This record gives sequence, structure tokens and C-alpha cells, in this order.
Amino acid sequence: MTRTVDTLIIGASAAGLATAACLKRAGHGFEILEAGDVVGPSWRHQYDRLHLHTPKSASALPGLPMPSEWPRYPSRDQVVAYLERYRAHHGLEPRFGQAVTRLEPSDGGWLATTEEDEWRAQTVVVATGANRRPVRPTWPGLDAFRGDVLHSSEYRNGDPWKGRPVLVVGFGNSACEQAIDLVERGAHPHLAVRSAVNVLPRDVFGLVPVLQLGIVMQHLPPAVADALAWPMIRVTVGDIRKVGLRKLPYGPNAQIARDHHIPLLDIGTMNHIRAGRIGVHGGIERFTDDGVVFTDGETLAVDAVVLATGYRPGLDEFLVPWREVCDDEGTPRVSGGPTALPGLYFCGQFVSPAGMLREMGIEAGRIAAHLTSA
Ligand SMILES: Cc1cc2nc3c(=O)[nH]c(=O)nc-3n(C[C@H](O)[C@H](O)[C@H](O)COP(=O)(O)OP(=O)(O)OC[C@H]3O[C@@H](n4cnc5c(N)ncnc54)[C@H](O)[C@@H]3O)c2cc1C
Repeated sequence: MTRTVDTLIIGASAAGLATAACLKRAGHGFEILEAGDVVGPSWRHQYDRLHLHTPKSASALPGLPMPSEWPRYPSRDQVVAYLERYRAHHGLEPRFGQAVTRLEPSDGGWLATTEEDEWRAQTVVVATGANRRPVRPTWPGLDAFRGDVLHSSEYRNGDPWKGRPVLVVGFGNSACEQAIDLVERGAHPHLAVRSAVNVLPRDVFGLVPVLQLGIVMQHLPPAVADALAWPMIRVTVGDIRKVGLRKLPYGPNAQIARDHHIPLLDIGTMNHIRAGRIGVHGGIERFTDDGVVFTDGETLAVDAVVLATGYRPGLDEFLVPWREVCDDEGTPRVSGGPTALPGLYFCGQFVSPAGMLREMGIEAGRIAAHLTSA
């Protein structure tokens, strides 16, 4: 069946629901198509220990704060509960089980195809997440490695590896929290860190969320913001080279602007590294049947490898003219505003020093304002 709507929102997690709430408030017609059976399926499948790294005050979506009795950094299950509450509070009714398999320009608007229907819309807001497709690098010998190999998106907790060595590949926030989880569950984690990094404390002196500084300084040139933050980082984090890490030649704000990567917001990984409970190694050269050989020749026997190697938006899987709006890595060039293709918007693709959830709320409001003023 072919259906028609003013605006089609694809995805019913944080970005899609925020966009819908802003459009509803503006009296603009829309439908939401969601591949999963519930709102925020990506959050439900995340690891057990996960808590937001951004404080709830800067992570709520437009029109509904997170409950005051919740902790500063809500858990995975609280984020799921919040998304459910958000949907109900704004009276949003996504159509579930509706994966868009093809999205293309058609007759001056857009045509979205799902298994059951075709949807014609003047405008489309793609809110399918920056984390749609896990990145799974490979190395020589990985096929012959006899241990477990999983992506961080498949990691639930460290129980299966109690008492056993595990290699976590990467140094992002998931890698470092999963390494803590492995310590807490009695496993012996090691981190393979190929590149130079930046480390920030999640809370400055355990008191002020570092994100609040990011919000205050986000409009400064990144190099200036980094210069101002450097004394704080030096005092709170110390010299990361002493534990075998390499420091990026530029600071965290420049890292976000140049590389679109959030630096580590440390919640205890550095203490475990200093205490020897988490090993730090370099990049991976190859795997053997029972372990890994690093680029410096060091060898390590491990029982499992967790690939905390990030994600891609994966838009090429359904957005036909993706090259016209994305860079070579498939990341949209514009998020939260009009793209090079009339009627096409993305929400939630911009990596912000002020937090992604906060940013997608702002982008949702901007998109709604643009659509209703057109
Ligand atoms: C482990 C982890 C921790 C994070 N922690 C924080 C944090 O502390 N603070 C913060 O600000 N941000 C955090 N983020 C980043 C970001 O805020 C979250 O990933 C957030 O869920 C992104 O929301 P989203 O709506 O853009 O995408 P998603 O939550 O990924 O939702 C996309 C939705 O689109 C649906 N979808 C995808 N493709 C299709 C299709 N073809 N058709 C129909 N539906 C489709 C999916 O089923 C999904 O429901 C974290 C991310 C991860 C992975």
C-alpha cells in the first residue's frame, strides 16, 4: 500500500522521538517508522554496566526532564525507561517493525519502502543513529584464533571470562567501561590501544561533570578551549604516558572537531591501569591460535577479544543517494539542518563536545523550526 504524510521520521530512539515531539508541538504532520518492536532498541541491547557518561541534566530531550530522584548518571535501564516515558508523555505512536529498506527522491519529495508499504513524504528526517553498523576490523590470523571474538555491542558482562584473560580492542568509552566490568567480574582485561588518545575525568575533582565545561566552552575555538582545560586535565588525570599511553598532540576539543571522536571520559579505568588490574598494549599485528602479537612484537595469550572498535551510520544500506550528503566514511555532512538534497534531514549525527543526547534535542528543535517556517 502507498501512504502519504508531510514528514516521515525514520527511527524511534532519542533523535527520532525528540524530532517527533518538536514537530507535534508545532502542529506539523508526521509518522515515525521504527525497525524494532519498541522505542530505543539499541539501548536495550547494550551491556549491563552501562550508565550515561553525560549527566542527566544535559541528556534529557526537549519537553521532559529526567526524574529528580534518578542518579546524576542514569543507567542503561533508566535511559530505556526514560525513552518509554518520553514517548507516552508526548503521545507519540511509532509504527513498529517497519524497517526502511530503501529511501530515494521521488516526484519532488521522498519515497520510503518498507517490507509492507511505500511511504511518500515531502520531507524525511533520518534518525537511524550514528551507531547503526558495528565496525569489525580484521587482522591476519583472526580466523584461526580459538577464543571468543565479539563486538562491544554484543558484550553483556564479563561473567563468561571470570579468571581468564580478555583483550579489549580500543580506548573509547565503551572499551574502557567494559574493561572495568571485566575487572569487577574477576576477569583479567587488557586494552589494545593503537592510536594516541586524550583522557578527561568524567567529573572534575569528583564534583562537576566535565561536560558542563564542554557546554560552556563549546563556542570557543577548540584550541583555545583545550588550552584553558589543560591545567585541569593535568591535575586530575596526570601524565597518561606514564602508563604506556600516547597523548594526542592536540586536546579533546580539537579531537572532537577534527576526528569526530569523543575522548575517554574516565570513570575509573585509569586507576585500574595504574594498579595493574588492566594491561595496556599497542596496536595489533596479528592473531595466533591462542592470542595476539602486537606491533612492537609483544605477545599475549587471551581467551577472548572484544572489538570496541566503534560504529558507522550505515546509511548506504538504504539511502540511495547517500554519497550526495555523506563524506567518504558514510557520515552525513550536515545534521540538524537542511542537507544538499531538498527535503532530507538527519538528526543525531553530530559529535558534540556538549554531549550527543543534548545535541540531538537541539537539532530536533532546529529541524522542526525549519520545517514549520518553510
Ligand atoms: C554504548 C553507548 C553509550 C552512549 N552514551 C552516551 C552518553 O552517555 N551520552 C550521550 O549524550 N550519548 C551517548 N551515546 C551516543 C548517543 O546518544 C546514543 O547512541 C543514542 O542512542 C543515539 O540516539 P539515536 O536516536 O540517534 O540513535 P539510536 O539510539 O541508535 O536509534 C536509532 C533508531 O533507528 C532505528 N533504525 C535504524 N535503521 C532503521 C531503518 N532502516 N528503518 C527504521 N528504523 C531504523 C533503530 O532501530 C533505532 O531504534 C552513547 C552511545 C553508545 C553506543
